[in-house]
Amino acid sequence: MPIATINPATGETLRTFDPLTDAELDDKIEHAARTFRTYRRTTLSERAAWLLRAAEILEAEQGALGRLMTTEMGKLVKAGGEEAVKCAWGCRFYAEQAPRMLADEPAPSTATRSFVRYQPLGPILAVMPWNFPFWQVFRLAAPALMAGNVVLLKHASNVPQCALAIEDILRRAGFPDGSFQTLLIPPAQVQRVLDDPRVAAVSLTGSELAGRSVAAAAGRQIKKAVLELGGSDPFIVMPSADMRAAIDTAVKGRVVNSGQSCIAAKRFIVAEAVADAFERGFTEKMQALKVGDPLDPATDVGPLATRNTLTDLDDQVRRSIAAGARVLAGGHPLERPGNYYAPTVLTDIERGSPAYAEELFGPVAALFRVRDAGEAIRVANDTAFGLGSSVWTNDAAERARFIDEIEAGQVFVNGMVVSDPRLPFGGIKNSGYGRELGVYGIREFINVKTIWINDAVHHRESLTE
Ligand code: NAP
Repeated sequence: MPIATINPATGETLRTFDPLTDAELDDKIEHAARTFRTYRRTTLSERAAWLLRAAEILEAEQGALGRLMTTEMGKLVKAGGEEAVKCAWGCRFYAEQAPRMLADEPAPSTATRSFVRYQPLGPILAVMPWNFPFWQVFRLAAPALMAGNVVLLKHASNVPQCALAIEDILRRAGFPDGSFQTLLIPPAQVQRVLDDPRVAAVSLTGSELAGRSVAAAAGRQIKKAVLELGGSDPFIVMPSADMRAAIDTAVKGRVVNSGQSCIAAKRFIVAEAVADAFERGFTEKMQALKVGDPLDPATDVGPLATRNTLTDLDDQVRRSIAAGARVLAGGHPLERPGNYYAPTVLTDIERGSPAYAEELFGPVAALFRVRDAGEAIRVANDTAFGLGSSVWTNDAAERARFIDEIEAGQVFVNGMVVSDPRLPFGGIKNSGYGRELGVYGIREFINVKTIWINDAVHHRESLTE
């Protein structure tokens, strides 16, 4: 894929960028390593002041940043502005909370005094996806920078201007030159960065395929990796649920970011007793969505980010239909310029077909009918992924079972799965490992250093003199 801005609403190539040469890449790595030696000595209050300034810039420039996201990856312009504001929230959260999260922690032992000290690791490589081109980066960068690490960003090839804009915001906010750098490189050069001894660790948000490749490269070099990969989140609806709220949230949860979210609800698992009502209401609402220009405030679903996203999704839908799935709505790309796909609802889905087993990254919903909570849990867990989950019930016993038995990093009861700086975010199984956000996020890329001090040694020495 070229490193280029290609407007997903029109297919027009607006700007292209030459990838870094190996020598330019080495210079940036050296710059990061050198900067780390001084940056790690900056105080928490200095770093917090820079993050708070970044938050102000993000809020002040939310309109322009939203338009940039729309131009590069097709996000609804309003959602782009909201994403910039959410990044500001993340910056403020870590600016305020990091001193508490990184404070020395007493850990009693046989020593006179022992405690844990949290120290930065060094330059962290961030390999990031295009779907939330600001939020994905800030949720890694804000805690990493706050903890005293420096960041090298390899962003997705279709959002180079977002990547450069983030670097620019952090520089204007006061972060020292070299503490956050964008690397305009293709995936093939990621290995070179990871093999470099000056790079300490990697955080990748993206597909399973990219995760396997980057984790293997990190493993060969014994480097810490955090993986935030794909998901095929279940959305379970039981008879006691508030049906109207469940249907409204199901639609919203499926088409958030035009369906391109790792934590979008993807598999709708509905109890037989309410399945007809849910299917009818959900399908009607999916069909009523307005698909179109992401710059138009009335639009509900914009274009998919890249041509490949569109053709991959269409291929998955076709193979699911060939395996027996029935189309209740949509089921095809729209005949117009740009990467538009009709909001789609599939039912009667064959186990093992793409709509059952794979992540559908676009506005395509898979419906399943189940007898009871036990079968709902079995279907929900019958996936290689384990990121988020949403369950709709007002029955206390069912709620307790879902919380306990669903294999996922998150269970939301009567609500849509969202990320929140205060809550840990991440998955299990093929959705990855490690956590972002909350206190767990800031502790992924630090040396948890045990300090053991025996004050009595001096005393004994002085007695034998
Ligand atoms: P992707 O194709 O895996 O790309 C993600 C990043 O990895 C990009 O920067 C990409 O660079 C790079 N990359 C791809 N293959 C690589 C390789 N072999 N070695 C090194 N780097 C590689 O994913 P995407 O299409 O951008 O994003 C969609 C995926 O991300 C979905 O599966 C979604 O669920 C997942 N996601 C997960 C989370 C989470 O928090 N769990 C959040 C958002 C998205 P290029 O662009 O240059 O190819």
